Amino acid sequence: MSTIILKGNIIHTPSRTHFECIPHGYLVSENNQIQGIYTELPEQYKNIPVQDYKDRLIIPGLCDMHVHAPQFVYRGLGLDLQLMDWLNHYAFPTEARFQDLSYARIYYEAFADAMAKNGTSRAVIFGTLHAPATELLMEILEQKKIAAYVGKINMDTLSPDYLCETPEGSLAATEQWILDTKDRFHYVQPAITPRFIPTCSSEVLKGLGELASKYDLHIHSHISEDLGEMGIVRERYPQYDNDGEVYDHFGLLNDKTVMAHFIYPTDRELELMKQRGVTIAHCPQSNGNVAAGIPPIRRMLDMGIKVGLGSDIAGGYSICILRAMADAVYLSKLKWLESKKQDSFLTIPEVFYLGTKGGGQFFGKVGSFEPGYELDAMVVDDSSLGTPADCLTLEERIERVIHLADDRNFTARYVAGEAAL
Ligand SMILES: [Zn+2]
Repeated sequence: MSTIILKGNIIHTPSRTHFECIPHGYLVSENNQIQGIYTELPEQYKNIPVQDYKDRLIIPGLCDMHVHAPQFVYRGLGLDLQLMDWLNHYAFPTEARFQDLSYARIYYEAFADAMAKNGTSRAVIFGTLHAPATELLMEILEQKKIAAYVGKINMDTLSPDYLCETPEGSLAATEQWILDTKDRFHYVQPAITPRFIPTCSSEVLKGLGELASKYDLHIHSHISEDLGEMGIVRERYPQYDNDGEVYDHFGLLNDKTVMAHFIYPTDRELELMKQRGVTIAHCPQSNGNVAAGIPPIRRMLDMGIKVGLGSDIAGGYSICILRAMADAVYLSKLKWLESKKQDSFLTIPEVFYLGTKGGGQFFGKVGSFEPGYELDAMVVDDSSLGTPADCLTLEERIERVIHLADDRNFTARYVAGEAAL
């Protein structure tokens, strides 16, 4: 039996309303199942070594619910452009280069290293349309112990000539890649990943829905991100008045689906997401950068729709999900103003919950330290952040970490019951 005992200031959010903080507590996991948090170590564990992190903070591993691995190459560039201009100028030409496996290896290694250093335990990731490079990305994530659903993306229409598949070629390559990878890894699984509705013909969307069902796979895409994108979808599918019903028509919405953005949902579409059990990946930094809009996250939470956070590299420039937490509060305040102070803004415990347990539920019992959950944890040394820690409560210390910490403050990482940094 593998027992891990971590000691330190333990902080998590079993519910989204408040933090549970245990100063100088013991977190015990047996065979990747959390047994409990204790202020005194129970007798039966007395002979087992304790990893003592002293005054540091121990928090659940972070979950990045929407990120584009190839776009790591140009993160921080083109942030004064709108979505379609940004895609044509940066995203598509860069993604085309991932046909070259030696190029892919350099940037996918850098991407996975950055994720690990920034405390991400779990992620849902876009690759490119190239199956070999996407398989390489999966190998690298497995080595670095990042548990992930990874997608070879599909694009067979309204895409540049140099980055466009035929419908039959797209579906055949996707099925072969699924067969090659679905049983190959411990931490990493393939996910069905249409880029978004505009770049996929109805033939491809239909085929992807069938593949998701045939192999019981998770599904990842974008929904209602931008008014331009939504206009294309309305024109192509005039019988539907929203993106959600189009995806649903092709069998792509269920409780294994994560959809990024959802900025302009209709009432019917919100109800549909709730009924189907879809998780929404909220990517606040990206929504602001590409001037897409502000999604009604408060409304989704009030309705009981599942929500996690995404970095959306490179629409977002920071790969750290703590930054997404801070940005989620910030953006929700603008929404509060936009709604004439009707939609109350998000609280610090709420955004922490979204970045841990909110996304974690997509992977099973992940993102919390409650008994029965998997052991994903990050250790944070906040001693360099300024104010002496003994002047602050643990709630204040984690709030300060959310706003001020970066990878220099993260000192250990555990994923699925194993040390990973
Ligand atoms: Zn995206």
